[in-house]
Amino acid sequence: MLVTFPPEVLELSEKFTNSAHELYLIGGAVRDLLMGKTIYDWDFTTDATPEEILQILGPDAYYNNTFGTVGYPGPEGERPFEITTYRTEAGYSDARHPDELNWGKSLEEDLTRRDFTINAMALRLASLAQGKPTDQNIIDLFGGQLDLKAKLIRAVGDPAERFREDALRMMRAVRIASELGFTIEEATFNAIKMHSGATQKVSRERVREELFKIMASRYPYEGVLLLHGTGLMDEILPELSKTFGVEQKSPGRHHIYDVGTHCLMALKNCPSSDPLVRFATLIHDIGKPQTFAIKEGITTFYNHEVIGARIAKNIAARLRFPKKDADRLFKLVRWHQFTVTENQTDKAIRRFITKVGRDNVEDMLALRTGDRLGGGSSETSWRLEEFKKRLVEVQKQPFSVQDLKVNGKDVMDTLSLKPGPKVGEILNELFKKVEEKEVDNEREVLLAKLRSFN
Ligand code: ATP
Ligand code: MG
Repeated sequence: MLVTFPPEVLELSEKFTNSAHELYLIGGAVRDLLMGKTIYDWDFTTDATPEEILQILGPDAYYNNTFGTVGYPGPEGERPFEITTYRTEAGYSDARHPDELNWGKSLEEDLTRRDFTINAMALRLASLAQGKPTDQNIIDLFGGQLDLKAKLIRAVGDPAERFREDALRMMRAVRIASELGFTIEEATFNAIKMHSGATQKVSRERVREELFKIMASRYPYEGVLLLHGTGLMDEILPELSKTFGVEQKSPGRHHIYDVGTHCLMALKNCPSSDPLVRFATLIHDIGKPQTFAIKEGITTFYNHEVIGARIAKNIAARLRFPKKDADRLFKLVRWHQFTVTENQTDKAIRRFITKVGRDNVEDMLALRTGDRLGGGSSETSWRLEEFKKRLVEVQKQPFSVQDLKVNGKDVMDTLSLKPGPKVGEILNELFKKVEEKEVDNEREVLLAKLRSFN
C-alpha cells in the first residue's frame, strides 16, 4: 500500500509529534484507505485530552460536539478533520457529558470498543516517512485486514455482548455490508438473529437513517435480504415480513413469485438511485396480504394499493420520515396501479399527473419498471411507451392558472384594471380556453386574447 496524504494531514501529525503526543488515523478512514477509496471523513484519535488538543492546534481548533471531539480545518473544500481522545466505550449514543474519566488510556482500549474488525484499525501517523504509509504503520489487533480481504463484517470481541451494549450496531452491520458488498460473518450473523429484538430500543430516527443508507447503497437488494435473514425486518418493517410466502400464482396471471420475493425483485430492478423511490418500490405491494382473496379459483388483491398506501403512511410516521418523504411515499404506493390503455383521454392522463404530482411522475415510472421486471415481465411495452409520450404531450398544456404564460399584472396592464377579484376571474377564463385548446399557451397569443376582452 502506497498512498500520499494531503500535506494538511502531515502538518497535523507534526504538531502532535512536536508536543510528544500520539496521533492515529482511525476507523472508517483506515478501512477506506486500505480499500483504495477516497477518504471523506478524516477521523483521528490521540492520547492528548481535548484541552491539550486545543492547545496543540491553536486558535483554528474548536469543540465539534458535546463529546469532546475537536474540529480542525482539513484540506481545501473537504470536511474538517475530527480529532478525538482515546475512549473506552461507545459513549456517543447515550452519554451526554463524557468527562476525563471516560477517556481511555490507550489506543488499544479505543480500538476494542469499536464495532467491526474492518472499522477497528488505526494508522500511526507520527512516524510516517515522507507521508507514505507502509504496512508497519497499521495497527490491526483484530484481523481487520484479513476480514477486508475476505469481505466479512465481523464484530470486535463477543458479538452478542457488543449488540447488547448498543443495538444500533446490528443495523450498522447490514448497512455496511450493503455499502461494501460484504457478507456478515456467521457468528456475528447468528448474534444479530438472537438479539434483533433489541432494535426496538434504538431511536426510530437512527433506524430510518440506517434503512435509508441501505436503500441508497450499492447493494440495496442484498441489504434487504440481510434484514430479512437476520430477523431485523420483523422488528423494523413487520408489514413487509408478512408479504413473504403470500402466493400470487393464478391461472392466466403472470406472477411467478410470492409477494415478498416480488417486492425484493422489484427493488433489485428499480432504475432509480433515489433511496425513497427504491423504498417505495420495495413496499409497493405491502397491502397485498390484507387484501388476499380467492374468487372462482383466481387469486385477487382488490384495492391493495389503497390499503398499501395506508400502511406506507403508518411506516413513514413510525420511522419519522420527513413530511415531504412521507407524502411522496404515500403517493407512489397509492397510485402504482395506474393503467396505460391507449384509449385514455387527455383529461384522464392529466388527472393521473395531478394525483401523483408532476415532480413524482418520473419516479412513478421507475417504480413501474421495477415492478414489471421484478414480476418477470419485459422492461416496457408499446402501451407503456405510448403512455410516456402522452405524459410529455399533456404536460405541454398548463395545469393551473399559475402555468399560464401571462399573469395578473398582464391582465391589469392590458385591461387597465385595478387589483381585485375581476383579475382572477379573467385569468380563470383564459385558463379554461387554453385547457379546451381554444387558444395556445403562448404569451403573444394570450395578450392578443386579453385585448379582445376590452
Ligand atoms: P461511514 O462514515 O462511511 O458511514 P464509518 O465506519 O466511518 O462509515 P461512522 O459512523 O462515521 O462510520 O463511525 C466512525 C467509526 O466509529 C467507525 O468506523 C467505527 O470504528 C466507530 N463506530 C461508529 N459507530 C459505532 C458504534 N455504534 N459502535 C462502535 N463503534 C462505532
Ligand atoms: Mg465515517
